[in-house]
Amino acid sequence: MKDPKDIKKTIGSIGEFGFIEKIRQSLKTKDKSILSGIGDDAAIFKPTSGHELVFTTDMLVEGRHFDWKFITPWQLGAKTMAVNISDCAAMGAKPTVAVVSLGIPKNYPVANLETFYDGMKSMGESFGAHIVGGDTVGSDQFVVNVALIGEVESGKALRRSGAKAGDAIFVTGTLGDSGAGLHALKHPSENNPDAAATLVKRHLNPTPRFTVGRALSTKRLATAAIDISDGLSSEVHHLCDESKLGAEIHEEALPISPSLKAYCASHGLDPLEFILSGGEDYELLFTVPLTHISQVLQKVPGETGTPLKSIGRMVPAVKGIVLITRKGERLPLKAKGFDHFSKK
Ligand SMILES: [Mg+2]
Repeated sequence: MKDPKDIKKTIGSIGEFGFIEKIRQSLKTKDKSILSGIGDDAAIFKPTSGHELVFTTDMLVEGRHFDWKFITPWQLGAKTMAVNISDCAAMGAKPTVAVVSLGIPKNYPVANLETFYDGMKSMGESFGAHIVGGDTVGSDQFVVNVALIGEVESGKALRRSGAKAGDAIFVTGTLGDSGAGLHALKHPSENNPDAAATLVKRHLNPTPRFTVGRALSTKRLATAAIDISDGLSSEVHHLCDESKLGAEIHEEALPISPSLKAYCASHGLDPLEFILSGGEDYELLFTVPLTHISQVLQKVPGETGTPLKSIGRMVPAVKGIVLITRKGERLPLKAKGFDHFSKK
């Protein structure tokens, strides 16, 4: 429970050690794999035997990756953890322990920071991940970096490099919703508020496709996987580069939500732009050998509650990476997804 006296306190007034003492209690866990969490110079974690560790990190910077006008501290905490869990899911791994480094403006309210931690903790624990340490520094902007360790049964990690020519390309869920949600936040309008609200929710509250990643790795159903953080076109290029192959993507097969369709129709926008380069969908893109397709379609959606769609196939590198339009044209698919170093 938050202390009402804390409402006016800022991180500058209680200091780093005061804050660590506050959150230490709330982050205590009975998980037996964590031998020591916050309190030692480093956390001690006992990996499960027969497993390999995966290790990922993601950083979000105020003004660059998020805007406090649009997102609450709880939502940002949950999203920060979700994007790291999504990377674990893309490897077919279970998230286990995380450390969190923060840059915090000194006038930032302690109560908001506690709510931010609640969001991270809640999202992490719903997928089995615990926060076991971190660091805080003073900063002009709010900066958060999560580093997350996951575990996967030895030899079963999904990688970007394993696809073979002829494999079918699948995606989970629907694409482009998050990018359109960000568009709706930046361009408020009375036009089609229900569709906009659904898309905004998809942007602010992404759900990692953890159960799909686990089903694919444990049953060895996929040859390669990647999560869609920067837009479909970029991720297809990453997977093709690592697998040294090309790909054919069929426009008519791309999964589009009713909300994206309605929002784009009422705002004169092209849904394909959001699907190919919107970013932050956190769906999975994965490749399946022809022999495993029926097993994937029969088992994975039913067991995980996540719809899947086959959107194309892997081809030899000489054929390039192409989008086959509804009219049957073959257009080069450029990796024009979200580029973190370009000007927005
Ligand atoms: Mg990723």
